[in-house]
Amino acid sequence: MSQSIVGQRIYINEVGVRDGFQIEKTFIPTETKVAFIDQLSRTGLVKIEVTSFVHPTFVPNMADAEAVLANIERNADVIYTALTPNIRGMQRAVTCHQSGAKIDEMNLFMSASETHNMANVKRTTAQSLEDFAVMVPMAKAAGIKLNGCVSTSFGCPFEGAVPEARVLDFAARYIELGFDGVTFADTTGMANPRQVERMMRAAMQRFPQTEVTLHFHNTRGMGLANVVAGITAGVTHYDASIAGLGGCPFAPGATGNISTEDLVNMLQDMGFDTGIDLDKLLAAAIKIPLIVGHEVPGQVMKAGKTMHLHSVPEKLYTA
Ligand code: ZN
Repeated sequence: MSQSIVGQRIYINEVGVRDGFQIEKTFIPTETKVAFIDQLSRTGLVKIEVTSFVHPTFVPNMADAEAVLANIERNADVIYTALTPNIRGMQRAVTCHQSGAKIDEMNLFMSASETHNMANVKRTTAQSLEDFAVMVPMAKAAGIKLNGCVSTSFGCPFEGAVPEARVLDFAARYIELGFDGVTFADTTGMANPRQVERMMRAAMQRFPQTEVTLHFHNTRGMGLANVVAGITAGVTHYDASIAGLGGCPFAPGATGNISTEDLVNMLQDMGFDTGIDLDKLLAAAIKIPLIVGHEVPGQVMKAGKTMHLHSVPEKLYTA
């Protein structure tokens, strides 16, 4: 990367309250979610995925989607989004939006892998695309923007490698259907930096008018390296999760999104402009273990910012 990147803007979309809270076994009270989203809204984040419209039997922690959206305090600089995989969820989302609990953008998703899509949403990819063709006009008619996520873009835990052309063709189909942006998600942390750079160079060339976002899980420790690879290929939008929360209830071993505060710390050290106040973000992150009742993967929240200096101890034994 050249010096010309210094000061370049990178946009971060917080997904922890959705991708993270959804897998928690204990129900997180709606007031706790609302207060936490309000705190995140004041950190400089550009986008927050606040909830999902999914069947409460499968994802009980998201059962309060409408109540969360109705009670958060809006910051005009933040785009508030919600996720749904199906028509029923879109119907709920549109009703919620029309009742005054506004949703700026809906995020729709399916997997590039046939097996993963069936396991995740009980649909073939063709059926998911048919559903999207119904859902897109519903959102547009209500004035809601649309983002489409291609899950398992960089590998499937059941099938292994997913052909690059297949992933990019799904993104092309999304754009034809009227999606405003496309997210390529590494749902189970199988991506590596070389693969990310190669695929994203192809994506940026093929979809120059579309907002492309990358969504990485740090399952195998390659999350932040994959971000650097994505930036090298020209991608400027990244999903991340406060304190490294996250996973997917229907994907084996899909732990931990990349941590928002670790990502911001790295990008700031590298000279990028994230628009985010890292101290405010860390103040939010340290609340997460109390909210979810267990340890979390975030590293900077434990080690402190890179330039958080220490007094010299008596003895040092470090390599
Ligand atoms: Zn995810």
